[in-house]
Amino acid sequence: MHQLRWHALLQQWVVVTTARQNRPQMPANWCPFDPGSGRVPDHYDVYLYPNDFPAFAADVPPFETSTGLFAETGPRGACDVVLYSPEHTLPPSRLSLESWRKVVDLWAERTRHHAANPDIALVAVFENCGEAVGVTMPHPHGQIYAMPFIPPIVEKEIASARQFAQTHNGDCLLCRLLEEELRQQSRLVAQNEHFVSFVPYAARFPGEIWICGRRHMRTLLDLNAAERASLAESISIVRRKYDALYGFVLPLMMSVRQAPLRPDDAPYHMYVQFLPLQRSATKLKYLASIETAYGTFLADTAPEEMAQTLRNCEPATSL
Ligand SMILES: [Zn+2]
Ligand SMILES: [Zn+2]
Repeated sequence: MHQLRWHALLQQWVVVTTARQNRPQMPANWCPFDPGSGRVPDHYDVYLYPNDFPAFAADVPPFETSTGLFAETGPRGACDVVLYSPEHTLPPSRLSLESWRKVVDLWAERTRHHAANPDIALVAVFENCGEAVGVTMPHPHGQIYAMPFIPPIVEKEIASARQFAQTHNGDCLLCRLLEEELRQQSRLVAQNEHFVSFVPYAARFPGEIWICGRRHMRTLLDLNAAERASLAESISIVRRKYDALYGFVLPLMMSVRQAPLRPDDAPYHMYVQFLPLQRSATKLKYLASIETAYGTFLADTAPEEMAQTLRNCEPATSL
């Protein structure tokens, strides 16, 4: 079974894909992403690998908007794996700046590729890192989902952006938030020429960080080469700071939030969001009932304190 089912109460799509349950158990000492596996080139630095068990695929019925009680439709789209490096045990945080540049360039290239496909509404670029996030494959990699609909959290952010613009002379909500973060300074973590990294005012996860462009940019396609390099540097700095926080590779989710491919009236501002799952050196943050069943987050750490700690973590950067 491979279909989208409409959740009538939450008004969102659920991907039902039973084939993923039958994923073969890999031999313990074999990795398909390693050069020599026969599944990837013998030499690569960054490589796009088609997901063997895609949640969204080209060979399924097309997606059609439908909102009946038991509506279902096809999860038309694409899922790819981005291999960051041929080195099996290299944590993403130790990637060279050069590799991060290539990764960011590939993200932009894939966004451009999917933008030409009328089936695709949004390109979700993300990474799950660490066993606590359920990652079974240590090989450094991220993913790209080309989705036929706008996922609910992005839809909510678009609605917020639209509402803010309507009541503030067309201004961008995130541009204004960033202006205020730069003025208050207490939650800043790092900055470079084109991007600012900060712990958001109402961070939901311990040490949550957003990397936000200084100028308004909707998607990765709006970034020029210098800005892509600047974003790569920001990501590298944030990842190394996270490692320095407790002295080990922090389990986290990283997502590139970009605007839908078909522009609308809302001034959506792309950013990179990090959601770490470690709330202390020895404790994990679990998403329990109040977070998962009710959607309300309890944060155990003050955003300003986390920002100060992360600001001082190596590599320390001048603000
Ligand atoms: Zn590997
Ligand atoms: Zn903006």
